[in-house]
Amino acid sequence: MKFSQLFTKTSKTAVSDADSINAKLLTQAGFITKQMAGVYVFLPLGLRVLNKIENTIREEMNKIGGNEVLMPTLTLEENYEITGRDKTLTDVFYRTSGAGESKIVLNPTHEEIVTPLVQKFVFSYQDLPKSVYQFQTKFRNEARAKSGLLRGREFRMKDMYSFHADEKDLDAYYEEVTKAYFRVYDRLGLGNGRTILTYASGGAFSKYSHEYQTLSSIGEDTIYICEKCQVAVNKEIADEQNVCPKCGNKDLKEEKAIEVGNIFKLMDKFTGPFKFLYQNEKGEQQVAQMGCYGIGPSRIMGTIVEVYNDEKGIIWPESVAPYKVHLMSLGKEEESKKEAEKIYQELSQKNIEVLFDDRGNSSAGEKLADADLIGLPYRVVVSKKTMEKGGVEVKKRNEENVEIIKAKDLIKILS
Ligand code: ATP
Ligand code: MG
Repeated sequence: MKFSQLFTKTSKTAVSDADSINAKLLTQAGFITKQMAGVYVFLPLGLRVLNKIENTIREEMNKIGGNEVLMPTLTLEENYEITGRDKTLTDVFYRTSGAGESKIVLNPTHEEIVTPLVQKFVFSYQDLPKSVYQFQTKFRNEARAKSGLLRGREFRMKDMYSFHADEKDLDAYYEEVTKAYFRVYDRLGLGNGRTILTYASGGAFSKYSHEYQTLSSIGEDTIYICEKCQVAVNKEIADEQNVCPKCGNKDLKEEKAIEVGNIFKLMDKFTGPFKFLYQNEKGEQQVAQMGCYGIGPSRIMGTIVEVYNDEKGIIWPESVAPYKVHLMSLGKEEESKKEAEKIYQELSQKNIEVLFDDRGNSSAGEKLADADLIGLPYRVVVSKKTMEKGGVEVKKRNEENVEIIKAKDLIKILS
């Protein structure tokens, strides 16, 4: 992509109402722009990041047998009357009305849609287990939208639901999902002790649910970490339970964290009210057992920025960076402009993702500052000076040293 073709621009000035690093940097660098409180536009650079996050999650869900679907945004409120959640979710619902008398909600979650959906196709124990997921825009009238992408009123979610003949089978799959989620966070740069499996309240149906909490001072959650087991307890349940649920250790470390995922054993909470029955081996009708597994791609995008930044801008992990390389020519010399254009064509041909700052009217200072703000993993500069030294200058965003490399060796380094 050429900078001159991007319709967006970076902006030097701080966003006046940005209450977080992610809101400020993502807006200044031209990844998102605010539409209203808790509602953002994903601009070209931001959409590329979001898509990379979602594709990583998609790959890991497919590996554990997930069926991807796309459920609707609009649902009749009657669906929620079946489970009684028309009363309990009332604060977060955005309600609207259809033609005639129908009452409609914009789904804040999809248990009431997925349960009758899967039920249509499952009749016998031989049809189980099954796992279904989607990427959706969720609508929740959060009391306080805040911290940029961390708490939106319209946000992205990957939600997966699994259906099983019995609890034992659900438990085995739950374990598999636990591991898949860790693979996701590792791949997104949030692994290596940055994201902690956290025991949280399980509701009425199981002792615990599990949250994935990424350590960050802006996090709304307080967790107590057992450093020996590398698990934590959420403060919401810790009052009665301020010990490690694995080893009984009482010496736990308090940290702030962002909930980036949440997995739940729902058992028959939804399959019961919807009468999701299947026939077991003995020919008896049994209620299917259910699990649900949520993860927030847009919140993760904000979280990555909260974790990876410095005073100059964002520092994207390579796996989610919108492009791998930030290429630019500095100075007025035609020769270096031509050389940069040639490098752009070559890298593009090799499918190396490159953002080419081809703007003719920007100063060197502006171009370099924008590269730091946008935060791509590699910066490649072509100028009279680098050409005299026999090549181009390469710098990694997360390292200080610069190297001069022959243009023909670039592809080797960058692929
Ligand atoms: P929270 O306690 O932060 O409100 P939740 O328990 O309501 O989260 P879930 O309903 O389990 O969240 O949603 C699954 C995932 O969706 C969360 O782990 C989080 O990553 C993401 N998510 C939830 N609410 C929001 C929001 N308002 N904005 C952005 N992402 C969200
Ligand atoms: Mg919530």
